[in-house]
Order: sequence, then structure tokens, then C-alpha cells
Amino acid sequence: MAEYDYDLFVIGAGSGGVRASRMAASYGARVGIAEERYLGGTCVNVGCVPKKLFVYASHYREDFHDAEGYGFEPVTPGFDWQRLRDNKDAEIKRLNGVYGGLLDGAGVTLHDGRARLLDAHTVAIGDTTVRSRYVLIATGSWPFVPDLPGAELAVTSNEMFHLDALPKQAVVVGGGYIAVEFAGILAGLGVDTTLIYRGSLFLRGFDDGIRSFVADEIRKKGVKLQFDTDVTRIEALPDGQRRLHLKGAAASTLDTGLVLYATGRRPLVDDLGLDAAGVELDERGAIRVDDAFRTSVPNILALGDVIDRYQLTPVALAEGMAVARALFRDEPVKMDYEAIPTAVFCQPNIGTVGPTEAEARQRYGHIKVFESQFRPMKHTMTGAAERTLMKLIVSAADDRVVAAHMVGPDAGEIIQGLAVAIKAGATKAHFDATVGIHPTAAEEFVTMREPVRS
Ligand code: NDP
Repeated sequence: MAEYDYDLFVIGAGSGGVRASRMAASYGARVGIAEERYLGGTCVNVGCVPKKLFVYASHYREDFHDAEGYGFEPVTPGFDWQRLRDNKDAEIKRLNGVYGGLLDGAGVTLHDGRARLLDAHTVAIGDTTVRSRYVLIATGSWPFVPDLPGAELAVTSNEMFHLDALPKQAVVVGGGYIAVEFAGILAGLGVDTTLIYRGSLFLRGFDDGIRSFVADEIRKKGVKLQFDTDVTRIEALPDGQRRLHLKGAAASTLDTGLVLYATGRRPLVDDLGLDAAGVELDERGAIRVDDAFRTSVPNILALGDVIDRYQLTPVALAEGMAVARALFRDEPVKMDYEAIPTAVFCQPNIGTVGPTEAEARQRYGHIKVFESQFRPMKHTMTGAAERTLMKLIVSAADDRVVAAHMVGPDAGEIIQGLAVAIKAGATKAHFDATVGIHPTAAEEFVTMREPVRS
């Protein structure tokens, strides 16, 4: 009998785990994977995919209104939340099936259930025990809600995808990706929405110009932003409403129909048997790994949200490929975390790649900043006050474009292409020599001639 049942056993069939297992299997490894919840993980089930579907839905109200400027008769369409939710559920179910098919097609054995490490090579899934040469932990992350009285009365992004009904009013607590995205979704679907953030300006870590521009745009869409404010207590009222007790700039109470906490996500490491196997965590509670994704136990690896480097699906996918190649192709691949493009699907979207202006100034010393703000062409006829911002940051020493930031429709779609150019080391001269596509918003990125700051 072989010493091991598998060459690789993966715990968690989310984006990173599925990618690593399929790649490993395609290199000839015997691969098993365990999943206790849903195939495709957070991204497919309670993250990127259903979120984007909700973002599409939330745009329609505005689109119906915008259509009037283009000659359509005014309409006040009804909206059926349950239909949106159920159609979304059907699509997610389809994707779960696709993931199952991908694993099956790749020859990966799926174990349905919760996996626990018994030692460095042994994993128990219910009554089944398997032994594997390598184990990969890809269990992802889970929403974090701070410990405050009444915290159990709040929901997280997990529950937002399955609400029985939409409230009339909602409060979103937090100032990161999930908070601004859901504030936009709720407001777009007609919910009176307030976003409460503890600091003076949300989206910490993004370019300062982008942050304040987005705050203005989000306010224009009707979301109330309360910065420098924190929640001290949540109270249940007899009519089912929630009362928030606030401190800070807006010290008062606020009654609302729903409280969404979007205050970060923590690595999912509970009850995995990490102690039994000797796997160490870092000071933030994430699994500690080296450059090759090896934990403190060399045959156990970890990737994705559970190592808490970048909580982004495409990063987990890239890490999954790196692990599979390193283990079964003997091709040590060092992950390149430089210039990771990302989008925030708030309304309008943010698309960004490369350092913020402040970071670039520190890193490159002398920089040139090119910037353009304008009303999107579509809105010249809709009457909407929405504006677009585009920004390029150039290292003055070698003319290299080091960052591109945008707030505007389809910013993520536009920045993806620019990320390739930036990754390839394109200079401002290359951008200037590129012919624009007219009339688009994206052409602004190749027609900005004079720096606004240097
Ligand atoms: P983020 O880390 O992006 O933001 C967390 C927010 O919560 C911050 O504004 C933070 O404030 C605030 N916060 C943290 N702790 C507390 C607290 N105790 N009390 C009050 N406020 C608090 O987390 P999200 O939950 O928004 O998203 C998790 C991750 O998921 C993101 O970082 C991102 O990587 C990923 N994601 C990516 C998306 C995309 O690619 N479009 C979409 C959604 C999620 P402060 O800044 O002051 O610390």
C-alpha cells in the first residue's frame, strides 16, 4: 500500500484551493480537496460574483432616470428584491456546479465535509482519514465584527446575499471595500443608506485624491456619509428596528432597519487542528508562511486570505498556481506582489494600480502627476452630476508611469489594460505615443500632456 493516499490534499475549495488542486492534478499529482460549505468559496458564493450582480441591479434605477434625457418616457419601475435574490441564487448554484465539474474533470477527488489536521500528513474529514504528502490550507477568511454590546443584531456581508426583504433604511459600518460597495448597492436599490466610518476619510490605503473624490460622488448618489463616528452599542427596538448609539463627530442615536458591519475579514483558522500539526500563526492570526507558501511545518502550505497578504481572488489564484508549480514541476515561482491592480465596485467604480501619490513621492522622490476630471459624455444628456477622475503618476527620473488611478464608469475594465502597460515598464512617452480611442473616457489616459503637480 502506498505511504500516502494523495500527493496533495487541499483544505478549502475556494478560488485559491481549487486553482492549486486543478493545476497540481494537471501535473500528474494525486489530489484530494475538502470543502464543508460551498464550492467556489467566498468569491463565488458571498463575495465578488453575487456582489457584482447586485451592483448591476442597483444601477438600473439610475439608468431608467438617465434614459429620459435620451428621449424615453419617464417610468417608475417596481422592484422585487426576492426575484433579484433568487435569480442570483440560481446563477450561483450554476457556478457551484461548474466548479464541481472542473474538479471532476481534472481528476481531483472532492471530500464533502470539514477537514481537520491530525498531524503533519493526516487529515480527518468526518469519519474518513486520509494521508497526504503535502497539505495545502486554503480556508479563506470570515467577516470580523468588533465586540460591542448588541453586535449580534448586526449582519455581515454573508447575510446580505440572503436577506428576506430589503429594509427601508440601512446603516453600513466600515470604510473599506465592502462598506462602500454595499452602501452603493443599497442606495441604488432604493434604501435610505448611511455609512459610518471611524476615521476622517474612508478607503484608507487608496490615493487621497481618489478617496475625497469618491466621497463627493457617493454623497451625490444619496448615501449619507458620517465620518469620525463610531458605534458604541446596538439596541433592538420593539418594532424590529435597530438603534445605534454613536460617539464622535455625530454623537447621538440613529434608528435604522438594518445594520451591516463591514469591518474587515479575519483568516479562518478555527478548529483546523493547526496545533496538532504544529502550524504557527503570526501576530495578526494569519497562518505564517515563507516565500514558497510553506508554513512552520514544511510539507504543509497555505495561501489566499488565510495568510492575509492580499484578500483578493486573483492573488489567491496566482498563489495557487505558484504552489502547484513549485511542488509538482519543481519550478520555484516567487510571487510578484508589485503593482496589483484592483477595483472597488462602488458607484462610480474605482480602478487602481500602483502606489498612491503619497507613496510614490516617498518611493521615487521626484514624481509628475497628471490628472483629468470631467463629466462623462453619457451624462451630458442625462443631467446627472456624476464626474470622472483620472490620474497618472510618473517617476520623473526615468519617465516610467508607476501608477494609474481612476474613479468613473468601468474604471476596473480600463485599469486592467493599463496594469499590463505599467507592469511592462511603459513610460509616459509610450502613453503619449499611443493613439486614443475616440470618444471614450479611457483615451484621457493617453492625452494628458501637462502635469498638474511635480
Ligand atoms: P477592509 O479591510 O477593506 O476595510 C475594513 C474597514 O473597517 C476599514 O475602513 C477599517 O477602518 C474599518 N474597521 C476595522 N475595524 C474596525 C472597528 N473595530 N470598528 C470600526 N471600524 C473598523 O475590509 P472589508 O471588510 O471592506 O473587506 C475585506 C477585504 O475583502 C478587503 O480588504 C479586500 O481585500 C477584499 N474585498 C475586495 C473587493 C474587491 O476586490 N472589489 C470587494 C470586497 C472585499 P480603518 O481604515 O480605520 O482601519
